[in-house]
Amino acid sequence: METLLLDENQLDIAVKLITSGEVVGIPTETVYGLGADASNENAVRKIFQAKGRPADNPLIVHLADFSEAEKYTRYIPEIARKLAEKFMPGALTIVLPKNEKIPLVTSGGLDTVGIRVPAHPVMHRLIELTGRPVSAPSANKSGYPSPTTAQHVMRDMDGIIPAVIDGGECQYGVESTVISVENEDTVRILRPGCITPEMLGTVSGNVIVDKAVLEGLETGEKASSPGMKYKHYSPSADIVMIESDLEKFTEYVGENYGEGIYCLIFDGDRENFPYRYMTYGKDSQEQAQQIFRRLRELDDCHAVRVYVRSPEKSGVGLAVYNRLIRSAGFEVIRL
Ligand code: AMP
Ligand code: MG
Repeated sequence: METLLLDENQLDIAVKLITSGEVVGIPTETVYGLGADASNENAVRKIFQAKGRPADNPLIVHLADFSEAEKYTRYIPEIARKLAEKFMPGALTIVLPKNEKIPLVTSGGLDTVGIRVPAHPVMHRLIELTGRPVSAPSANKSGYPSPTTAQHVMRDMDGIIPAVIDGGECQYGVESTVISVENEDTVRILRPGCITPEMLGTVSGNVIVDKAVLEGLETGEKASSPGMKYKHYSPSADIVMIESDLEKFTEYVGENYGEGIYCLIFDGDRENFPYRYMTYGKDSQEQAQQIFRRLRELDDCHAVRVYVRSPEKSGVGLAVYNRLIRSAGFEVIRL
């Protein structure tokens, strides 16, 4: 199969593909997604196949407007409506009890479904034009860093899916914040993103950050979000996080330096840094936007091992930290 690279004026082709049960690479404000009709079991199976995704890892369902969620859910708590009012369209996914219109294949066998209303004009328009709920997990091979450009999608999916829409580089660079509702005054963050705990706290009295966001699960422990139990976001290189100041970081790298060793440091660390490095921004927003691109670029350089300066754990930094510890397989060195 030859994969077409479409531009934003060729949405009609993408619409036809999706309504006929095919999978298309689509730009969103978070990362690129692999879009297909969420109500069509065969189309959804093609997503799992293209990604090599485990069948119990649920897909988020994207809608043109939150009012559409009534069609696919059994119940919408008041707090979910308030959060949707404030943060949708945008990078927030709310897990709600699903109804029979969402097949179990889509929800990974769960009786809940994550609902998101994307803000990206291309994705938004595409959902409207298809008139379907659109599943769109990140358009990478399962386990690999998420794609933030159409070229990244082509690298993972060329010859596997019929088309990718090129919408340029993604604005946020990390996937949506996924939350579940505990009660009318409490939400739980299952996956951090650019809608931060602090932002959610302006609507919800309590915001719990699920333990699995910051730590690996114990053997046999049940994940509240199935995606959390899989190794993810990992390039071929061995990623090691180092929590320390720049001085101790530099000293540690010096003691462990050699062929194939790279460092991922902050923009501000650059001056006189004596070892092979790439930078990933000066603040959490920039780090989020650049992190997946850098992980892919490190593979292009054939990095064997990468020592990463640990980001902030607050605000958007929490999302960056979460992706990095997962890509490091929870290997963190604290100095
Ligand atoms: P991706 O599609 O790659 O952005 O990953 C979506 C992630 O959202 C999954 O791996 C899950 O961890 C989480 N998720 C989606 N739907 C649900 C759900 N119904 N319940 C809990 N977590 C969910
Ligand atoms: Mg993903």
